[in-house]
Amino acid sequence: MIELKNVAKSFAGTQVLQPTSLKLTPGKCTVLIGPSGCGKSTILRLMIGLILPDEGEVYFDGQVLTAKNLLTFRRRMGYVIQDGGLFPHLSARDNTSLLARHLGWDKSKANSRVEELADLTRLPKVALDKFPAQLSGGQRQRVGIMRALMLDPAVILLDEPMGALDPLVRYDLQEDLRKIFQTLHKTVVIVTHDMGEAGFFGDEVLLLGGGRIVQRGTLDDLIKTPSDEFVSRFVRSQR
Ligand code: ADP
Ligand code: MG
Repeated sequence: MIELKNVAKSFAGTQVLQPTSLKLTPGKCTVLIGPSGCGKSTILRLMIGLILPDEGEVYFDGQVLTAKNLLTFRRRMGYVIQDGGLFPHLSARDNTSLLARHLGWDKSKANSRVEELADLTRLPKVALDKFPAQLSGGQRQRVGIMRALMLDPAVILLDEPMGALDPLVRYDLQEDLRKIFQTLHKTVVIVTHDMGEAGFFGDEVLLLGGGRIVQRGTLDDLIKTPSDEFVSRFVRSQR
């Protein structure tokens, strides 16, 4: 499982993340929440090795992530970003199966996995041969989730997955996602700035501010026993 040990990160001389340690709980959903610009996406990118830390180490199943081995590890992590992050010139089917095909899966094996994932994410089969621009926002995000699940990752990390969706579409996708995570018993990390979403998904919530984890607990803990003024202001700002 993923663990950060004293991980720090700066961009252009500004420390975005102070030395931070955290360990994901297998099979649980951890939510990273906090105001815009507080470093949520940075932590997620560090977890999957899209960026490397300035200080400290990121571990996956007890092994340190390095520039050399990170591609191997990344195959065991599913990553979902806002609006799906799909390749515009590939169909939903090809977006989903691209990596598996690259790794040598034959066409029929890849296709049957894609169809299975379409059932799981409730993407209509007719959508599989459409391009991202021909899909609705909710469908694009379902394809993004299919792509992340294609290789049956040990952990799935989602960066504001509902960010681009209108409320009703968001509601349906939230319900479906929670069912999927429960069915598959995945370890999940979700980044959001929305407390409703944090409460909906999070077994545990980490509130970030000023480049560090300010409070860690259930959403109820944050609401009822905020550790400081920042936490109580953040909670109140969302009611
Ligand atoms: P969040 O996801 O919480 O909104 P981010 O992790 O994206 O925040 O960014 C945290 C801070 O780091 C922001 O001030 C952002 O501008 C800065 N930042 C993030 N990535 C980069 C980068 N690649 N280069 C320069 N600054 C960056
Ligand atoms: Mg972000």
